[in-house]
Amino acid sequence: MLKMEQIVKDFSNCRALDHVNFSMNKGETVAIIGPSGSGKSTLLRCVNCLNRITSGKITLNGKTFVDTPQGGKAQYLSDKELRILCAETGMVFQHFNLFPHMTCLKNICYAPIKVKKESKESAEARGRELLKLVGLESKADVYTAQLSGGQKQRIAIARGLAMNPQIMLFDEPTSALDPEITGEVLSVMKKLSDDHITMVVVTHEMGFAREVADRVIFMDKGKIVEEGAPEEIFQNPKSERLKEFLSSML
Ligand code: ADP
Ligand code: MG
Repeated sequence: MLKMEQIVKDFSNCRALDHVNFSMNKGETVAIIGPSGSGKSTLLRCVNCLNRITSGKITLNGKTFVDTPQGGKAQYLSDKELRILCAETGMVFQHFNLFPHMTCLKNICYAPIKVKKESKESAEARGRELLKLVGLESKADVYTAQLSGGQKQRIAIARGLAMNPQIMLFDEPTSALDPEITGEVLSVMKKLSDDHITMVVVTHEMGFAREVADRVIFMDKGKIVEEGAPEEIFQNPKSERLKEFLSSML
């Protein structure tokens, strides 16, 4: 459903993505691992257009939203079409990025009402279902500033799901959390994976990648160095770089 071909992303002083080819099937859970600065966040941000690529081609469900003509500059769909496409992806960040002055339910319903023009009633009904899914039904009317980190992240996941995205993107969703509460967030993500939500998870949680992902991708220096089933990646790493990385994670 998602295909990224020959993606290059240059920042002023570095090449963050160096001819990356990446694709996803519907219902798949892919974990992306790799050292800091290897381009993992940039790859996610190119999928939902938070970063504009330098060159390459991205196709979502057969629709090309950016392509580079031979030797030219990447050309995107119009802003309006892009907004629709971006609504097809839900992103969960390390630092939650919730609206602190809104209740949990309002956080979840904001985009469906503003962007999708859903009625308040239907958005709230769906919002309450999502609160239940992440185990926080009782927090509907609580301001997010009053939640613990793990609860905030679960609300952020519910908010991402509220737009019924084709793909959920997670960028180190548990890295800012205390170790004892990462489990509550990972178990919500495992539930989504079991429900065949299509998801890409950048993570340092090797246990999660090993147990939950269908496929694991190892990135280093802007390239995909190795990819495969979790057992191949963790039990039989081929490149020296992956072997070193895995031993550094122990
Ligand atoms: P990771 O998520 O794997 O830690 P990133 O995708 O954040 O890596 O970064 C990849 C490279 O791109 C790094 O060298 C980083 O410094 C650089 N980079 C990322 N975002 C920006 C930016 N907005 N401006 C300049 N350089 C950036
Ligand atoms: Mg990152």
